[in-house]
Amino acid sequence: STETVTAPLRISVIGTGYLGATHAICMSELGFDVVGVDVDPDKVRRLADGEVPFFEPGLEELLRKNLATGRLAFTTSFAETADADVHFLCVGTPQRADSGAADMTYVDGAVERLLAVGPKPGALLVGKSTVPAGTAVRLAGWLAREAPDVDLAWNPEFLREGFAVEDTLRPDRLVFGLPADDEWYGVADRHDHGDHTGRRDRVEATLRAVYAVALDAGTPAVVSDFATAELVKVAANAFLATKISFINAMSEVCEVAGADVKTLASALSYDTRIGGRFLGAGLGFGGGCLPKDIRAFQARAEEIGAGPALRFLDEVDTVNLRRRTRTVELAIHLLGGVAAGRRVAVLGAAFKPNSDDIRDSPALDVADTLRRAGARVTVYDPAAMENAARKFPDLRYATGVAAAVADADVVLHLTEWADFREIEPSLLTPLVRRPVIVDGRNTLDPQLWRSAGWIYHALGRPNV
Ligand code: NAD
Repeated sequence: STETVTAPLRISVIGTGYLGATHAICMSELGFDVVGVDVDPDKVRRLADGEVPFFEPGLEELLRKNLATGRLAFTTSFAETADADVHFLCVGTPQRADSGAADMTYVDGAVERLLAVGPKPGALLVGKSTVPAGTAVRLAGWLAREAPDVDLAWNPEFLREGFAVEDTLRPDRLVFGLPADDEWYGVADRHDHGDHTGRRDRVEATLRAVYAVALDAGTPAVVSDFATAELVKVAANAFLATKISFINAMSEVCEVAGADVKTLASALSYDTRIGGRFLGAGLGFGGGCLPKDIRAFQARAEEIGAGPALRFLDEVDTVNLRRRTRTVELAIHLLGGVAAGRRVAVLGAAFKPNSDDIRDSPALDVADTLRRAGARVTVYDPAAMENAARKFPDLRYATGVAAAVADADVVLHLTEWADFREIEPSLLTPLVRRPVIVDGRNTLDPQLWRSAGWIYHALGRPNV
């Protein structure tokens, strides 16, 4: 059964960032022999020492447990991946500096390094990184020319930072993008490369063995071609981004109409066709995925002649960024129209709670814009201080909420950590210069703050 099929598989995970480290650790938790390889020696050393180099609840415990079994190792040497049966490709695909498109140099660099060590015949390369449609076919052509015995699958990843262990061990669904049996991916003379009949079944069987535990527990697997698998990921993120920008667009209308977006969203959410998830109006989305994925999706659609289909994502992006501008303007308005010399306390630096990820963080974007306008900005975040200080050394950082708000002229709540919801506002009142708060996430209790003497402002809600 499951045990006998999965036990002999050896797995390599290429790229051990948020996705790859989580994947490697969870695969070893499932009983596989796993080696994680990364080009960043510091990251590898920390992982090998039992330290998760980012904030992810529950992950470090699993790392230590599995390192101790000897089933899990981390290395900078690709040679150590040579005997793996399955290679998961988990490297980054950030936005390019010169356009909205995805930067594919890390993906290509990783495949190049893998091919250089000579993966064993029959090995399977499984792409998990979020990539432009057409990437898998291109890589399949590359493999067909240089390592025709190596198979390829596309298995996009949907994990959420903050819930990464749960999402990896018990995903909502699995998507298996499989090669076509009769396609040769650009290799001119197909007869030079043997008979690939049954390749699709072989690849699917390996993926089913890797994910046997989740599949046995009832996780649905959607089997598709390469392009569909690639598109599922960006389509999911495009939908989520659209849902957030939809409610933030409603928030803008509410502000003008004198309506309350939180009540509006709550009423919408009872319609099961709409649902309440991702309907929280506020400062909008950020992070290492949504913003760059919707831009890369548009860029790729333009390239392949489907540009008009995704023009609405331009507007989704614009609405999202306008929330940041609006928050900055509201803060300056509450400071009496001048930022220069004023003290601003920012609660939150991570792009979302339960993460230390500050990639395209709305909170830090607002904080740094106010700093550049002349304000003296002090930031506190329960997990992301180190990352924030590295990227924004000119902001000030406090060791806790009380220190952050000391002498503040305005307090901005910009990342909705549970810790901030639990603040007792009356304890902060004597610390600040002026008790004024902007709730950029609409998750604080207005009554509580107002009754403690605060001027409470939210986005998309009447500020009475
Ligand atoms: P990350 O930046 O945290 O990690 C990427 C890692 O790849 C880094 O450690 C980097 O050193 C390493 N790397 C770069 N080039 C390499 C090479 N040639 N060989 C080996 N390692 C190399 O990024 P991430 O957040 O883990 O995202 C990785 C991919 O997964 C992206 O495509 C992203 O869109 C996708 N994804 C991320 C998440 C998430 O929640 N973070 C969720 C789903 C999908």
